[in-house]
Amino acid sequence: RPRSLSLLGLGAMGTALARTWLAAGHRVTVWNRTPARAEPLRALGATVAGSAAEAVAANDLVVLCLLDDASVGETLAGAELAGRDLVNLTTSTPADARVWADRAQAAGARFLDGGIMAVPPMIGVPEAGGYVFYSGSAELFAAHQEILAVPAGARYVGEDAGLAALHDVALLSAMSGMFAGITHAFALVREADVDLGGFSGLLADWLVAMARVAVTEDQHAQKAEQGEDQGDVASNLAMQVAGNATLLRTAEQQGVSAELLTPYMELMERAVAEGHGDRDGSVLVELLTAH
Ligand code: NDP
Repeated sequence: RPRSLSLLGLGAMGTALARTWLAAGHRVTVWNRTPARAEPLRALGATVAGSAAEAVAANDLVVLCLLDDASVGETLAGAELAGRDLVNLTTSTPADARVWADRAQAAGARFLDGGIMAVPPMIGVPEAGGYVFYSGSAELFAAHQEILAVPAGARYVGEDAGLAALHDVALLSAMSGMFAGITHAFALVREADVDLGGFSGLLADWLVAMARVAVTEDQHAQKAEQGEDQGDVASNLAMQVAGNATLLRTAEQQGVSAELLTPYMELMERAVAEGHGDRDGSVLVELLTAH
């Protein structure tokens, strides 16, 4: 059944969200700092609020999708938050999210933070597999789960408001390492007589297969920490460090800077030097967090 909500922020992501809610028959009040960006949505049936405060006042459910944490502060500065259900889809840190949860509670509002795991073309396209991590008020999530799941899948990860951002940033950080590896791989083959289309396919398949192996090994490692037998380590660090010499020599021979590879290699070498050569990559997690 049709529901009502307010949406503040009509950039690429906010506009995609608004279009999807409107297309599903919901009543959407929108606001954007630069008013012209609201006009295409007015034509699709949105109500355009004259100010951020007016948009917040218009509906119980208020969704924010702004550039960054500072823009959320500026936008909500003059708004009356009491009784509102605030959902902040602006990318933030876990600490930012907890600050907003406290502010909302102090103002008599419920708060949910969201981390969007999708790009705008994936919004409103269920088969694209995009979703949003949510954390914070379980009551708010229960009350609005259905409408929140219209643009992309909704995954609630806990009452601590910082958990959605933590999940979001953890996945993006892993992706950043993957992008570094892909960049290095293409640099290696760039000057060679390699069919780049075919190579791209091999690379994608390899990364998918290795992602499963890497994550599964980490789960084994956690069991080991909990006192269960870790079993045989398929790729221990001593072997990986020895293998790395080949990666570095090849980079040098191909005239490719190894700057994207070396930080991870140095951490592995440190682990071996500290006597962990027979363990798998999980010991690196311990080294990164030991200070
Ligand atoms: P855009 O740059 O397209 O839009 C930014 C929006 O923030 C605009 O509506 C802009 O208003 C507004 N804004 C910026 N500064 C202020 C301010 N000081 N006060 C009020 N409004 C302000 O960004 P996106 O829509 O792409 O991203 C929005 C959020 O979604 C970000 O947090 C982003 O990290 C997140 N996200 C985006 C993804 C993407 O692929 N696009 C993917 C996953 C998350 P104005 O029009 O007036 O400039």
